[in-house]
Amino acid sequence: MNNFQYYNPVRIVFGEGQITQLSELVPTDARVLITYGGGSAQRTGTLDEVKEALAASGSRDVFEFGGIEANPEFTTLLKAADMVNEHNIDFILAVGGGSVLDGSKFVALVASLTEEDGTVSREQAWDALISYCKNLDSAIDLGAVLTIPATGSEMNSGGVINYSERQAKLPFGNPLAFPKFSILDPIKTLTLPERQVMNGVADAFVHVMEQYLTYPVNAKVQDAFAESLLKILIAEGLVVKQEPNNLETRKNIMWTATMALNGLIGTGVPQDWTTHMIGHELTSLHSIDHARTLTIVLPSVMRELKESKKEKLLQYARNVWDITDTDQNDDTIIETAIVYTENFFRDLGLPVSLEDVDLTEEAIDPIVKQLEAHKMVKLGEHGKNDLDVSRRILQRAVTSKAS
Ligand code: NAP
Ligand code: FE
Repeated sequence: MNNFQYYNPVRIVFGEGQITQLSELVPTDARVLITYGGGSAQRTGTLDEVKEALAASGSRDVFEFGGIEANPEFTTLLKAADMVNEHNIDFILAVGGGSVLDGSKFVALVASLTEEDGTVSREQAWDALISYCKNLDSAIDLGAVLTIPATGSEMNSGGVINYSERQAKLPFGNPLAFPKFSILDPIKTLTLPERQVMNGVADAFVHVMEQYLTYPVNAKVQDAFAESLLKILIAEGLVVKQEPNNLETRKNIMWTATMALNGLIGTGVPQDWTTHMIGHELTSLHSIDHARTLTIVLPSVMRELKESKKEKLLQYARNVWDITDTDQNDDTIIETAIVYTENFFRDLGLPVSLEDVDLTEEAIDPIVKQLEAHKMVKLGEHGKNDLDVSRRILQRAVTSKAS
């Protein structure tokens, strides 16, 4: 195991009806900006519940900013940041999924980057984003009410921002962006369309894989946690498809998705993230849902890198898929585990190849160009996945071997 520091200050408030806790969790004299997405928080009544809870105590001034897109847009977020300054906001309350949470973290970090006229500087905010927001040293306090289990954003300090004008979708991370608290009410996930539920399961699955499927470092705690999370996602993902109103399953999926990317399984181990970085380019060029880009790319990452990941792939086959046939050679065992993974994604109704989303080999060149433009040229746990490797991964992803 490698050396590590583990720091996670997020208070998780989990369970049915927990939105009422906002009256205790948000400072009673705060000037609050509630941020939300394209309308689901209004339609489902969550926004009203949030406002009611905030009004139940103290003397808070409450403002609202709606319209944060799925794949949150840089320019929209700058408008929210202007609102923060205009109303002297000192607490941002994000109500939604990963997009609203990520976008709100970015707003919290860049709101102080103002021009002389008081508006947030587009250039400074862009400079901050392309340097992963690492150097920013102040942020507005932030809390979250999560409505879709998927990204882990509720318990981490990162995010991903889309800037359509520049065809860029870029990650950032800064400890100041940890939410002060996140409320996880599994009831809130019952209104999700099936597509978003399945996306969430797949995103969490790939988060675990990016931290687990690397060269081994004898990190027994992290490995055993990761394997458990994968097995739970496989089992509960299939249950939720058949029984969407099964609340116990919803609870398990919600907590698993949080645990998948709250830093715990990623401490002291190498991490990959090749699948996510290639996936971000697919989203920004072709508007494909985040999770769907991952299910397209991951199987090809596994095949292309099967030599450097060999030991861990065999462990994955054995411990996650129970492939124990000692008569088979290593290659066959690994290929079987990859096909099982593809079939699992297919069973959730997700694509596993570029063809599945009506893209052909012609899509590859522009993606590779974008990876180069965004300096994604040394990906993977070894930093050895250059543009040629990414191109080969994409070539493998054109068609699928899955049934
Ligand atoms: P999302 O983009 O936040 O939401 C997807 C859709 O679900 C939206 O259309 C949203 O509608 C709807 N929705 C949300 N909650 C709902 C509910 N309870 N009922 C009905 N509809 C609901 O989805 P996400 O998968 O959580 O986030 C994806 C983003 O997170 C991507 O940009 C991805 O790159 C990023 N990401 C972040 C991290 C991280 O660590 N921070 C990790 C991986 C990915 P409305 O807009 O109308 O609310
Ligand atoms: Fe993700």
